[in-house]
Amino acid sequence: MSPGERPLHDRVVLVTGAARGIGRAIAEGMAAAGAKVAVSDADGAAVEATARELAEGFGGPERWSAQAVDVTSDEQVAAWVDGVRDRWGRIDVLVNNAGIQLNQASAEMSTEAWQRVLDVDLSGVFRCSREAGRIMLGQGSGAIVNISSIAARFGMARRLPYAVSKAGVEALTRVLAVEWAEAGVRVNAIGPGYIETDLVRHAFEQGHIDREAIVAKIPMGRLAQPRSIADAAVFLASDAADYLSGQVLYVDGGYSVFK
Ligand code: NDP
Repeated sequence: MSPGERPLHDRVVLVTGAARGIGRAIAEGMAAAGAKVAVSDADGAAVEATARELAEGFGGPERWSAQAVDVTSDEQVAAWVDGVRDRWGRIDVLVNNAGIQLNQASAEMSTEAWQRVLDVDLSGVFRCSREAGRIMLGQGSGAIVNISSIAARFGMARRLPYAVSKAGVEALTRVLAVEWAEAGVRVNAIGPGYIETDLVRHAFEQGHIDREAIVAKIPMGRLAQPRSIADAAVFLASDAADYLSGQVLYVDGGYSVFK
């Protein structure tokens, strides 16, 4: 990298679930680091609005692409990834961020509800990684960043399919890291703690979690802003992490090491 060059200069980055929350912050962080950014979300109108807003501050519309993509659809994922490759010639980075939460007693849970969470949070990561991974393997380079959760590590009651999905994402991260290492493709994950987004605000509002009780378990004594996850994603996507693969980086204010 020459002096003054940004860490992701002209890299082509895909981010799923990027209309809001952590995904939006990651898209912004990648663009600030010099990338061309393709954002997608199940809510197409919302992600187009996000891309328009971010394009004003970061490079203009020619450096942005926005598309409605539900990560549970093989067809939509494949068409999105191929479309971005056709437009910009390559895929350098994939951030698997799209995710849903379900707070429900396990004994009351329907099989449909269980499968829905696994389909978005785990199989969605597989689908996107497979499609982008094929292109990266052909290029001989690429970086995938999966968004896991501290829920992968702890027994959090009423979060069964979410925790199982995130634990699966961490296993997927390790397996793909090993399988694709020789071809120059790195695969890592971030395990966020509690981040101020709609997902967490909703859980507070519904009484699924209690803010004071959560804060008491975080050594830093506060929730994080999405930008902290974006900074970690930029690092893992960049050449600064060129010997790092198969790892999960917990960005959680010390939550996962607190006793
Ligand atoms: P938000 O709910 O704020 O945003 C998630 C985005 O993903 C939404 O725009 C949502 O779209 C989109 N999405 C949902 N389902 C799909 C789908 N099937 N296909 C494509 N897009 C979809 O969540 P966060 O920003 O908080 O979370 C982002 C990621 O971070 C998730 O993987 C989550 O599990 C993880 N995480 C978050 C933590 C937190 O504290 N916030 C902690 C640990 C992990 P729509 O609006 O249409 O639903």
